[in-house]
Amino acid sequence: MAVLPNDVIAWIRAFSESIHENKDYLTQLDSAIGDGDHGTNMDRGFQAVLLKLPDLADKDSSAILKAVGMTLVSTVGGASGPLYGTFFLQLGAATAGKAQLSLADWSAGLQAAVDGVIMRGKAGPGDKTMLDTLLPALAALKEASAAGTGLAEALRLSAEAGERGMLATVPLVARKGRASYLGERSAGHQDPGATSSELLLKAAATVWAQG
Ligand code: ADP
Ligand code: MG
Repeated sequence: MAVLPNDVIAWIRAFSESIHENKDYLTQLDSAIGDGDHGTNMDRGFQAVLLKLPDLADKDSSAILKAVGMTLVSTVGGASGPLYGTFFLQLGAATAGKAQLSLADWSAGLQAAVDGVIMRGKAGPGDKTMLDTLLPALAALKEASAAGTGLAEALRLSAEAGERGMLATVPLVARKGRASYLGERSAGHQDPGATSSELLLKAAATVWAQG
């Protein structure tokens, strides 16, 4: 199976719904180590994205993903707006000219998206951020792709690796973002951005499961 523009739209829709359902949970996580706005920030952005989706129905995947990125940059404040905005803008740039996305294309796209987040936020592994979900998920995806695994199974393995990374943020001391102001007191809480990133991977694995 390859991912078509309609599948990209279905993924974005599923993720937007998942963010809406988990809005209070994400906000609760951010209340413990941040300023309690991650759920509302993400939901504001993805509700705006949902409103844009009907206009994107005839566009290619790259244009859809870039439009998502632009919408997030202009509607989400805080750290997560520019970071998720960059993620989708880079994913869109990396998939330019592709009528459909193979596992290798998705893997290269995710790599570009993650590189964009690193460039923008200057965080690395173990800093207790969304990258602690995204980096292991990317590594698992590349490994599965190299092993010739099918798309659906590769996405499942990637989401599982991301989930382990997300759970592993609990004992970490935050070194980036607002949570870093708490120092040692940030330990013992799951990172909100790592949690929303896991919802992103899970949505892709669920929606593109027939590969
Ligand atoms: P803010 O921290 O401005 O209130 P949000 O609450 O929406 O923004 O998002 C917080 C999340 O953003 C954190 O949980 C973390 O995962 C992520 N984050 C913060 N700073 C960085 C960074 N420099 N690099 C990567 N992710 C970051
Ligand atoms: Mg916050």
